[in-house]
Amino acid sequence: MHLPPIMRKLSCNFRETKKSIIHKINPEKYNYVLKSKTDKCKISKAKNLKLPIPEGADTFRTVHIGKRDDAQYSKVITTFYKNNQIMKRYINDCGEVTSRVYTQKRVLLDASVKAFFRTVKTFGSGVKNNLELQKIEHIELSRFPHSGKIKFKLHKDENVYDGSQIRVKIKEHENLPYRKPVKKAIELNMEFDKDGIPHILNQSVKGGIKLPENDKFLPLRFIFDLSKQRLAFTKYFIKKYHLENLGIKIDDALNLPNKTVGEFCPEDILIRYDKDYGDILALTAHEVRHAYQFAQIGRLGKGCGKYYRNAERQLGAITNTEEAQEAYRFFVASEKYPHEADIERKSQLYTGNYLEIDARKAESEAMIEYSEGARVLASQIGRYI
Ligand SMILES: [Zn+2]
Repeated sequence: MHLPPIMRKLSCNFRETKKSIIHKINPEKYNYVLKSKTDKCKISKAKNLKLPIPEGADTFRTVHIGKRDDAQYSKVITTFYKNNQIMKRYINDCGEVTSRVYTQKRVLLDASVKAFFRTVKTFGSGVKNNLELQKIEHIELSRFPHSGKIKFKLHKDENVYDGSQIRVKIKEHENLPYRKPVKKAIELNMEFDKDGIPHILNQSVKGGIKLPENDKFLPLRFIFDLSKQRLAFTKYFIKKYHLENLGIKIDDALNLPNKTVGEFCPEDILIRYDKDYGDILALTAHEVRHAYQFAQIGRLGKGCGKYYRNAERQLGAITNTEEAQEAYRFFVASEKYPHEADIERKSQLYTGNYLEIDARKAESEAMIEYSEGARVLASQIGRYI
């Protein structure tokens, strides 16, 4: 079971900042004109829009855009919000409606690197040829301490996914406006292997970028879709612990109760994740470690059920004394593990249970390992991915 750490504070002004920048860049060039814009309205007023209202939306706004040289042109953008965060946008461009879904994704933070919000735009009805496209844009604003001057950096990332392969583009533009040439870029072609783990097929870099060497997590960093990345990380850890033949299922589309963000259930042989939780590395390292712990209990000849017996059959009995001692600690802790209803964030029964202590250790080891490559990349592309 995994409860989230207290959310680290991220800048919440990203979108507002982005919007104001865009408006400052010579809008005439696009020949578009803002005809009307409503305030954020209560969702109860959205009934007349004739648009499907996304679940959970509490407000919406409508913007009407025209063109200076074309009186017939009309574009209506309807945006739905939940807790002031953008959720979904419908774009009616002269009668052709497309939609975009927006999700907030937390990125790993490092004290030495700026915090970013990632805006993931998943293109809905605009998808062609069965390709799936994710685009992420980040804007970095930094102020020179002496002159007070502000410097902009724009990062544009893209994943094109066709079911088995992912094409990745990461580009960094310096100093807006956008049309300034790309300063640095990484392009990769990746493929998922039979175990669902991505591998880089080929790569090209621009602007003197050096990708981190011996970085086990490198391909995993470049999957932008939250759900795909969570699955790939899970499968990575499953393979790391040699659990790939134990039939572990993953369900990551859930709304888990009681602030739980993930859990492993040996009876169902199932890892469950809350669909919205974005701290993927810690979450997956933690839950798969639990799957490993229960497999080790099975290899001791303990535990009751298919998962334990299967682990014993597939992986054999533990022969190493130290490993057996640790597995026994897992077993004792599993007997004392508090019932779900009794688990609270600060409960000593939960946080002090050896299964949890050990899973948190696996979590922090993974994060240390991950941060090495992330720092190498951050020093070159200014982002901690
Ligand atoms: Zn746990």
